[in-house]
Amino acid sequence: MEFENIDTIAAVATAPGRGGVGIVRVSGNKAKSIAEAVLGKVPEPRYAHYGPFYSAQGDVLDRGIALYFPNPNSFTGEDVLELQGHGGPVVLQWLLERVVELGARLAEPGEFSKQAFMNDKLDLAQAEAIADLIEASSAQAAKSALRSLQGDFSREVNALVEELIQLRLYVEAAIDFPEEEIDFLSDGKVAGQLEHILDRLHQVFASAQQGVLLREGMSVVILGRPNAGKSSLLNALSGKEIAIVTDIAGTTRDIVKEEINIDGMPLHILDTAGVREATDQVEQIGIERAWQAIDNADRVLVMLQAGESIHEEDQAILDKLPQSMPVTLVRNKIDLIGHEPMIECEQASGRTVIWLSAKHRQGLDLLRDHLKTEMGYAQTEEGVFMARKRHLDALQTALDYTRNGQQQLEMFAAGELLAEDLRLAQEALSEITGRFTSDDLLGRIFSSFCIGK
Ligand code: GDP
Ligand code: ZN
Repeated sequence: MEFENIDTIAAVATAPGRGGVGIVRVSGNKAKSIAEAVLGKVPEPRYAHYGPFYSAQGDVLDRGIALYFPNPNSFTGEDVLELQGHGGPVVLQWLLERVVELGARLAEPGEFSKQAFMNDKLDLAQAEAIADLIEASSAQAAKSALRSLQGDFSREVNALVEELIQLRLYVEAAIDFPEEEIDFLSDGKVAGQLEHILDRLHQVFASAQQGVLLREGMSVVILGRPNAGKSSLLNALSGKEIAIVTDIAGTTRDIVKEEINIDGMPLHILDTAGVREATDQVEQIGIERAWQAIDNADRVLVMLQAGESIHEEDQAILDKLPQSMPVTLVRNKIDLIGHEPMIECEQASGRTVIWLSAKHRQGLDLLRDHLKTEMGYAQTEEGVFMARKRHLDALQTALDYTRNGQQQLEMFAAGELLAEDLRLAQEALSEITGRFTSDDLLGRIFSSFCIGK
């Protein structure tokens, strides 16, 4: 059944700025009449129609290609019109105004994808994968987003949901025949099936965890005096001869963030230039924000020259960190003292120490492997699909309920409680693909999309 959106929506679907081609996308039941008005005729469905785009007065606004996809065979499942014009902001604005004049309204971010979701063209995990594909910052991330978009993740989830349902029906049938309930539950089939589902959930969880890592990456705070070699290290780690590292400094005292990636795992690096001293209120606010970011980091790197001790300013920050924050010492410039690259564990503190040379690119693999290992990044491209934190949460909830159900069975032979746990596990999983979803969640997910997608 089609989900009827009374509005016809429109947006420029190409990136802002100038480009060879710019696309205005229209979706909804007015798309056909809009096409007729703009083109002077209804274009043949799914054919490229080349010609002028007319204004209300019959002037030519642009010339380009129009594509018309009648429902339900379109991205959104509604009638869709795409006007491919010249990719300049003025022309595209004209075209957009023209279709609005003809009864469309401006689309909200992600509204086309949301419409596609509403019309069962894709499920929620696939819709999210569209945004993740667009935002992917590495080839690995893009590949796994594509895998999710094609439904690899959803298929796993759906298969699990199906198994949970089957098992629940079996258990419920047992409950309906109380005199045989115990036999039913203890014949080994239920326990075996539970074991199997738990195995599978664990596998999907591990794979999704890799996907989340590919998407969100690792966040590291780097402490170090000027000239410690922080920029050199970033350049060296980014693996490019020419630095692609950019310092994005907001205000002078804001947090400095850089992003590189290690074998596909995004590495967000916060430079702490702004956390040292505060002399006025503006600085104070900057420092507080920096601390917030630091608190959310996965690890702190202290960079110092081989043979030196930690500077008191860096030590002061280290002292303020929560106990649980992992710290790695990087002893840079080993070439100056003729030291070999090395990784060791400092006896007293238990910290990892890595001896390397950023400039001469020695010992970098030790650091790369260390960071990947600490985050559990496997870097096997096989079967990793893009996933988000909310998916992991749902999988975790499903795991918890299933484990709980297993206990109900083993300890109390409590069929009814097991059935309820299976139902809750199934519901949690269904949130991933959006079969049970609140409007609130949908709003949050789609509002982070780009306009026109
Ligand atoms: P930052 O201020 O911490 O970002 O430090 P930079 O990366 O700008 O490096 C400061 C200076 O140290 C530069 O002249 C680098 O060439 C030099 N440097 C960085 N790493 C090494 C290294 O491993 N060995 C030597 N000899 N010099 C290095
Ligand atoms: Zn620097």
